[in-house]
Amino acid sequence: SRPVRLSVQLYPYGDGRRLLLARDVTAQEQAEAMRRDFVANVSHEIRTPLTVLAGFVETLQTLQLPEEERSRYLALMAQQASRMQHLVEDLLALSRLEGSPLPGLTQWTSVALLLRQCEDEARGLSVALTRQQGRPHLIEFPQAQDLGEIAGASMELQSAFSNLLANALRYTPAGKQVSVGWQQHADGSATFSVQDTGPGIEPTHLARLTERFYRVDRSRSRDTGGTGLGLAIVKHVLQRHGATLEVRSTVGSGSVFSVTFPAVRLRRSPASGDVNAP
Ligand code: ADP
Repeated sequence: SRPVRLSVQLYPYGDGRRLLLARDVTAQEQAEAMRRDFVANVSHEIRTPLTVLAGFVETLQTLQLPEEERSRYLALMAQQASRMQHLVEDLLALSRLEGSPLPGLTQWTSVALLLRQCEDEARGLSVALTRQQGRPHLIEFPQAQDLGEIAGASMELQSAFSNLLANALRYTPAGKQVSVGWQQHADGSATFSVQDTGPGIEPTHLARLTERFYRVDRSRSRDTGGTGLGLAIVKHVLQRHGATLEVRSTVGSGSVFSVTFPAVRLRRSPASGDVNAP
């Protein structure tokens, strides 16, 4: 049993009797503590790259550095600026998700199209991530046949799938495999999955992965350009689409992130050549 926080007030009637009013403020205090944590986290996440940037600016202003070193400093500054940009984009994405109405069942997104966009993005990201370390990842995608459609906001679904795929690539060493899957089940539901051959995640962390700014390994997440908000965004988008996220992981051999959409959110693609198809 968890402790309950009560706010107690005593009102004298004036005739010796008193009224005792007790309110349960547990939830309110928890929400307030979460908000404080969030603001502290955001401030910290922004302060770190800003401090680094300010330091580099000062160095460049005060020291006459050789051209090569100057360029290296400028590249590091660009990296910090881009980190802040990503963080602000992710914060905005989260707040937009919280403020917007649930996507209805009237807008349909082609799974083949979603996967094609994911594939283009993944190949580009893999090249960027592995530039200094050698071969890009081996990336596998399902053949785009009739994969059906999902009801929901295509931009949101795209961002959820992309975030999972970006994590798989960022946490998997160069040259190793990342596989994307789309399985339709007998009960009409379907599962999107991203399997990586990265370090895997200890079971104790699994339940907390989708919390804002929760990271298993802080320095590693930063090195790979992580904001700590990716899975929080994924969780939000999936909740809004009635989908569920499952993570299976084996330390030392890799992880599988699977997203299952209920049958009510899925339909077969309209036949090719359908004049009403968008
Ligand atoms: P980040 O931007 O730090 O990657 P996320 O919310 O996307 O933030 O992920 C939270 C944490 O979960 C990461 O910091 C990392 O420790 C862990 N994680 C996510 N995806 C993977 C993965 N595919 N393999 C290993 N660890 C992962």
